[in-house]
Amino acid sequence: MNYIEPHGHMVSRTTADYERMALAGCVAISEPAFWAGFDRDSVKGFYDYFRQLTEYEPARAKKFGIAHFCWICINPKEGDDPGFAREVIEIIPDFLKKPNVLGVGEIGLNKNTKNELIILEAQIDLAVKHNQLILVHTPHLEDKRKGTRIIMDALLNHGGVEPDRVLIDHVEEHTVAEVLDKGFWAGMTLYPETKCTTQRAADIIEMYGTERLWMNSACDWGISDPLAVPKARMELKRRGHSEAAIKRLTYDNPHTFLSQSPNFNLPG
Ligand SMILES: [Zn+2]
Repeated sequence: MNYIEPHGHMVSRTTADYERMALAGCVAISEPAFWAGFDRDSVKGFYDYFRQLTEYEPARAKKFGIAHFCWICINPKEGDDPGFAREVIEIIPDFLKKPNVLGVGEIGLNKNTKNELIILEAQIDLAVKHNQLILVHTPHLEDKRKGTRIIMDALLNHGGVEPDRVLIDHVEEHTVAEVLDKGFWAGMTLYPETKCTTQRAADIIEMYGTERLWMNSACDWGISDPLAVPKARMELKRRGHSEAAIKRLTYDNPHTFLSQSPNFNLPG
């Protein structure tokens, strides 16, 4: 069964990972711009990273028959210096025109600071002005619930944001209901140790259903598993979920959300 990896940081992955994902049925990856495991020192560092996301990764994925799409932004972790962040934001519009770009992301908050919020608001405005989808990163652990609420307020206060064009990622048991209730899409990030495990994700699905929900592996530079989505499918199958429900979560839902961008051209 084919699946879409809707949130994978492939710049930190080997070609062997691409091969394993292709063998497991992955046909498309969407890669948000984020921290690269280290702080970049200049705007040029971001320029090179955005070229990597829009030029090199699509070519690498193509070798394994996987379509590669991406998102552009300055992430909240490096967005805490507003002067620097604004310089990075200035180079973003040119990259939004690239053929594999789906929107602005992953923007959000990291430590819920005032500066992070200023840059989040600037990038929400950028997305609306350029008619882009938005992918949101929510903070971890004790900052998550508060941060998720601040982010949703910033999105809804803007006035130009349509909630069904925004996906709020890294939801957990205590944030998923509010995100869905407000009309946003929600993403569950499956990590082997932190965030949401496969079992917890299956529990959340059993409690909240499959509407406007997707699963992803993040597969970044930290301890993470690029096969987390196919493994979650196995867990759902083991628990007796139907093929149709599993396909909805791991193919149809990401397909529906991402297809709101004209650049997402994967067969339905
Ligand atoms: Zn991410």
